Amino acid sequence: AQFAFAQRRSMKAVGPIAVFLNANENPLGPCEAARAAMTTAIAESGRYHDEYAEEFVSLFASQGGLKTEYVDPYSGSSQPLSYCVSAFCNAEKPLVIADPGYEAAARTADAMGVKVLKVPLAKDYSHDVRAMVAASPNAGVYYVASPNNPTGSVTSRADVEWLLANKPKGSIVVLDEAYIHFSDATPCLDLAAADKDIVVLRTFSKLYGMAGARLGAAVARPDLLKKVREQGGWTMCPVTATQAGIASLKDASLVAKRKTINADARQETFDWLTSKGFAYVPSQANHFMLDAKRPTQTVIAGMAGKGILIGRAWPIWQTHVRVTVGTPQEMVRFRSAFEDVMRQPQSSSYA
Ligand code: PLP
Repeated sequence: AQFAFAQRRSMKAVGPIAVFLNANENPLGPCEAARAAMTTAIAESGRYHDEYAEEFVSLFASQGGLKTEYVDPYSGSSQPLSYCVSAFCNAEKPLVIADPGYEAAARTADAMGVKVLKVPLAKDYSHDVRAMVAASPNAGVYYVASPNNPTGSVTSRADVEWLLANKPKGSIVVLDEAYIHFSDATPCLDLAAADKDIVVLRTFSKLYGMAGARLGAAVARPDLLKKVREQGGWTMCPVTATQAGIASLKDASLVAKRKTINADARQETFDWLTSKGFAYVPSQANHFMLDAKRPTQTVIAGMAGKGILIGRAWPIWQTHVRVTVGTPQEMVRFRSAFEDVMRQPQSSSYA
């Protein structure tokens, strides 16, 4: 995210022509009902309104087949993700993550002096859960994002169940389902309901288009949720966010509608990339890894020069860049700019 923010600041000088395909946001923003609910909630923002968070939890729980004490609301999912690391890892209990994977948990671990073990994705781009367990016999947390950021690849429910059954006693699986709504993956909230050693994280930043509004949830058995909650002291979600979350959950057709919009734009982009001979990693999310087969900085800078901000690269994959799926119109601009950039001769300094 810091990369995206820095890029965005630099684009202010360029003007309003920029296309933001760099932070896995949803170009549609909050749905209509959520916008209306937020507008009403502005006037109510002078009070804490705990009852809104309660209503949000109750609705989220009932739709997820959960008891309310298995759900805690947060201002997005970054907060509980970081708290999971501080709650369950320490100097003797490392954090195990995938590579390339979402590194936010590793940043908390680094700040705490917790060892981070990075395990390469399997050949099918799923989390290599067997190698993750083999990497540490005493980890505090095994972190799995499914779909993954940056690849958009899914780790099967069978693999999550294998991880739960074979991880060392006392360790916790943190399953990050930030992008689950875009995918055909089987959600795993019921594993939390079944009292497994798992914390499932959800966010409204992605499909629901509320990245800047800030709403998310941690789902786990109550004793785990308590440990996570205690890391942050007393926290509250903005009333605008809880009201928008409630309105979004009540829109019964929203998930299916937005899943299709994203999948169509993604498939159109993949078909075009294939037709032009460009390589990419298949994805079930709102982003994908594009293999430019050249140093990524030249591609990122070349695209920025044309007003198209794309994501960053991960050191383990030196020629791949992450691209967020935008609107069909934005992807037209992406395609034209990418083709132009790729026509430019390759830097000879790349070895
Ligand atoms: N988890 C994953 C896998 C992400 O990619 C992101 C953001 O990009 C987050 C969590 C954090 O998002 P938020 O704090 O907005 O919920």
